Amino acid sequence: MPRLSEVITALENLWPAERAESWDAVGTVVGDPDQAVTRVLFAVDPVQEIVDEAVELGADLLVTHHPLYLRGTTTVAASTFKGRVVHTLIKNDIALHVAHTNADKADPGVSDALAGALDLRVVRPLVPDPNDPEGRRGLGRICELDHPMSVRELAARAAERLPATAQGIRVAGDPEATVRTVAVSGGSGDSLFDDVRAAGVDAFLTADLRHHPASEFTAAVAPSPLALLDAAHWATEWPWCELAAAQLDEISDRNGWDLRVHVSKTVTDPWTAHAASAPSDSSGAPN
Ligand SMILES: [Zn+2]
Repeated sequence: MPRLSEVITALENLWPAERAESWDAVGTVVGDPDQAVTRVLFAVDPVQEIVDEAVELGADLLVTHHPLYLRGTTTVAASTFKGRVVHTLIKNDIALHVAHTNADKADPGVSDALAGALDLRVVRPLVPDPNDPEGRRGLGRICELDHPMSVRELAARAAERLPATAQGIRVAGDPEATVRTVAVSGGSGDSLFDDVRAAGVDAFLTADLRHHPASEFTAAVAPSPLALLDAAHWATEWPWCELAAAQLDEISDRNGWDLRVHVSKTVTDPWTAHAASAPSDSSGAPN
C-alpha cells in the first residue's frame, strides 16, 4: 500500500508542476504525505458534491483538474463553500491534488483525451510548448478525421461521444461545410483563435465561446469556412479523468500498489437545463 507522497511523486511525473501556467495553482492542496492510499477518485471539479462522493466511496485521494483555490485566501472556515470542502477532506483523511494547465500541456493531456473521445487522429499540438524539443507537448491539438464529414455530422458525433450535458453542442458557421481537419482544446478556448486560424483547419471544438469573439472569428476567416463547435466546459475536460485514471492504474500495476482507481460520473457542469427556441417564422425575424 503506497503512501500519499509516493502516489503524488507518480502524479508529478505525469504532470510536472513547473509546466503549469504562471497564474495557475496546481499540486497538493490537502493531504498528509505519510497517509496510506488505497482508493483514488478522479473528477473535473473540487466541489462539495464530488468531495461527498469521495467520502462515500472511501477514497483517500481526490485528483481534480480544476484548482480549489486559484488565489490566496485568508480563511478556510466551513461557513465558506471552499472552506467546507477543505473541512470535509481533512475530517475524512482525503487528500486533494490538482493537475490543471500542466495536464493540458502534457503528452498525453486533456486535449488528447478529448480527441480520443471523438476518434480523431492527433497530428500535433495547436500551440507547441517551446520547452519540448520533440514538439509533442502543448496546448490544444490539431487532428484529422477518419473520413471527411459535415460540420453537422461532427457536432452530432461530439454530442454522442462526450458525456451528456444540458448545453449539448452549439455550432457557428456553415453546418454543411466539409471537415477534414479539426483543432480541439478542452476547456475555454477562445484565447487560441489566432493559433486556430494559423493552423488552417476546417473546424475548432472547444468550450465557453462568447458572442463577440466567435462572431469576429467567423467573419475574419470568411469566405473560407471555419466552423466553431462549442461544448460544455465540463464535458470537454471529463474525458481526461478517464485517461488520467488509466495512467495511474498502469503505474499502480507496475509498482504492485493495487490501488482502486475510480472516475466520478457526476455532472458538475453548472448548466442544468436547456430550452430550445420556438421555430422562427419564414422570414427568420424574431417574433
Ligand atoms: Zn477547465
